[in-house]
Amino acid sequence: MRYPKIRELGEAVKSLFTKPYTSDFPGKPHVPHENFRGQPVFNPDKCLGCLACEEACPAGAIAHEDTTDPPDAAKRRMIHYTDTCIFCSQCQAACIADHEGIVLGNEWELSYFDRAQAHESIELDLQLCEVCGTIIATKHHLAWLADRLDEMAFSNPTVYLARLKELGVADDNLVPVLRDRGRSDRVKILCVKCRRETTRYNE
Ligand code: SF4
Ligand code: SF4
Repeated sequence: MRYPKIRELGEAVKSLFTKPYTSDFPGKPHVPHENFRGQPVFNPDKCLGCLACEEACPAGAIAHEDTTDPPDAAKRRMIHYTDTCIFCSQCQAACIADHEGIVLGNEWELSYFDRAQAHESIELDLQLCEVCGTIIATKHHLAWLADRLDEMAFSNPTVYLARLKELGVADDNLVPVLRDRGRSDRVKILCVKCRRETTRYNE
């Protein structure tokens, strides 16, 4: 017959008079440690919809859906799938909006009866090319670029017009008769292809 070692016997006796190491959950709500990495959440005031986090996510837990119909209400929906996320924090590390567009909070109780509910999302306005309707970027992203470029933004009509529209001092430039991809279309918000068409000399 094997007898317990003295040290283990001491631990067993001691445990009779000490508090348990486990918490009283679910009797009492569990408060996670301040450095706990829980569910990432998009910040609609900071996120630019640039998709850098989607590129960086190793688990494919971030996706986006673009809707361009109707064109004057085009939207980008950024989606985070809680059931796929591994809480690695790469999205927050990659976020170009000072790491504040998506932030890992301390939310940890993430069970669902219906898996279709295991996601959260935000919507951002999209900017389309004013000539061909191609998606350029979100309006937030273009305005962010203009702020970063400062006076250099005025070298590119797409960037400075997007900023002026955000400030409410420029209207949509949608005059169909001028959609000829020629010089008359230069001062518009354009995709790369249409910008090239309007920049090169007409042959
Ligand atoms: S925490 Fe990791 S797995 Fe979860 S969304 Fe961010 S990058 Fe993807
Ligand atoms: S701003 Fe940050 S959170 Fe928003 S799409 Fe870009 S990387 Fe993702």
